[in-house]
This record gives sequence, C-alpha cells and structure tokens, in this order.
Amino acid sequence: MRALRLEAPGQARIVEQALPADTAEEVVLHVLAAAICRTDARMWQSGHRDLVLPRVLGHELCVRGEDGRRYAVWPGASCGRCQACRSGAENLCRAVAVLGFHRDGGIAQRVRVPRSSLVPVPGEVPDAVVCLAEPLGCGVNALNQAGVEAGERVLIHGGGPVGLLLALAARARGAQPLVVEVDAEKAALSSRFQSLSGVVVTREEPGYGWDVAINATSSSHALCAGLQRLRSGGRYVVFSGLRQEAGRNDLSRLNEVHYRQLHLVGAFGCTHASVTEAVDLLAGYRKAAGALIEAVISLEESPDALRRVGQGGVLRFVVRPEGAGYQA
Ligand SMILES: [Zn+2]
Ligand SMILES: [Zn+2]
Repeated sequence: MRALRLEAPGQARIVEQALPADTAEEVVLHVLAAAICRTDARMWQSGHRDLVLPRVLGHELCVRGEDGRRYAVWPGASCGRCQACRSGAENLCRAVAVLGFHRDGGIAQRVRVPRSSLVPVPGEVPDAVVCLAEPLGCGVNALNQAGVEAGERVLIHGGGPVGLLLALAARARGAQPLVVEVDAEKAALSSRFQSLSGVVVTREEPGYGWDVAINATSSSHALCAGLQRLRSGGRYVVFSGLRQEAGRNDLSRLNEVHYRQLHLVGAFGCTHASVTEAVDLLAGYRKAAGALIEAVISLEESPDALRRVGQGGVLRFVVRPEGAGYQA
C-alpha cells in the first residue's frame, strides 16, 4: 500500500509499504479520507514530544470496515486497565500509543486500529467532514474539562480550524463563544464558516467578564490576554501547548489566578466519548464544518500540502488515499 511517511524532520514522501494485518484486537481498514493538521505540519518542521520516526502521519480519519460501514477513529490505543482508562480518560493513559505519533497513522491506503477505537458515523456526514470528528472531539473534551454550560460566555483565542470547531461545540451546547484572531488574513479565511455556523470571529480583544477562556493557539500572549479578561472566579482551559518564545514567557501574569481566584484546567487531546459526541455534532453542523475544508487532494499531493499547512494561511486539506472524487 502507499502511505505518506515522515522519514526525518523536513523529509516526507510517499512510500510503498507492506499492508498491515488484523490481530485479535485490531482491525485493518480502508482509509476513505485523512486530514492534515497543524500538528502534522509542526512534526514535519521540527518533530514532536511523542513522535517516533520514521512514521506514517495521520490521526484525523474517516475509514471503512470490511462490514462496509464508515467510522471516525479515536486515534489512540490505550491499555484499558489503568485508573485513567477505567475512568474514561484514556487520553491520559501512560501507555497510550497515538496514531501518527507513536504508531503508524492513516494518511495511507490502509490503517490498523483497535476495534474499540472505532466510532460509527451516520450516512449524511461526508467523508471529509468525518475527519473533523477528531479535532472537534478535542474541543468537546476542553469544554467538558471546564464544565461549560448553556448561557456561559466563552472566549477563545486562535481562529484556526481547531479554535473554530471549539466555538462550534460551545454554540451547540448553548454557550456564547467569541473567537479572537489577530491575524487579518487568518480571520478572513473563516468568513464562510462564520456565516454558516453563526460563530463570530473578531480581530479586537473584547472587554472583561468572560466565564471561560481557552487558548487555541500556542502563543503565551494569547494565554495572558484570556486570563486578564476572565471574570473573577472564571475558568481558564490550557488547550493548546505553548511554544517556546524567547523572553516572552512572563509568568507574573499567573498572578491573575491568585488575585481573582481563577480556576486553571488542562485539556489534552480527546477521548472515545468526546469523539462520539463530536460525530453527533457533525451530523447537525456538517455544512458549517465542511467550510473548514480547504481542498480534497490525492495522496501524491500530500507532501506539498504538508508544507503549505506549515506556512499557514490555509484551512484543512483532506487526503483521499484511494483517489476517489469528493463526496459532497
Ligand atoms: Zn490534528
Ligand atoms: Zn490505560
């Protein structure tokens, strides 16, 4: 089978490799669609804490089983026995192996995943949109960690596809999200999504008094801006990992947590349950979610797409490893 393999930082190519085989717990599936996200591009540029090379990339997938059914995929394989796994926090399992990071992912003609990681999807959601169940599932997990409820005001910094999906999930539960994206070009990219979803993206920092704030960008400046704008007693979700910024990580801003009794929570990836919730949401918001797809491309075009995602200024590219046309 053919696959997009990252050989070393900066070196991604299409390779021919052996078809994986089923095991007692794992099953080989046809990949109908696989999205390329910022994390894939960052791994291509500079590696990642959890990345083991060489590696077939791809953790945002729509697959088809031998039963002919389509599935979204929770992109992990966890032990199923530890305290984290038993409490439904399998994303925190210390033995977790994530597709496209610790084990081969799905920007390939086939992928092998644990049967327990499959989430059935309804017929009306297009393959390319099913891929968004993973990043949307991460957003659902973040909202759950903060206990976001209907009527609450939620401030999200970062207007890339993940921040926008997070806002969509917040709206779906009756909260009032606002996305701040300071980059004019990036903010303009989401105009179609905004009109279809009702999510509002602004370039201006809003006023004070938010119940919840979340970072969907790796800038520490955005994290500080969110902390400042929370109402006293508000909750902050550290959702995106922060990048190293020489001389700019000023921790004195954490005094906001101290003086105003803010609650700080972390959110890391997604769980089987949050991906399942995301699939339900996608059924209702498939048109809006579809507006986050930049283009549907072939496997051969995927190394170049990885470069373009790394440069920024694009939404999600979705790879069709079998080369079939886009199912709208
Ligand atoms: Zn991703
Ligand atoms: Zn475990």
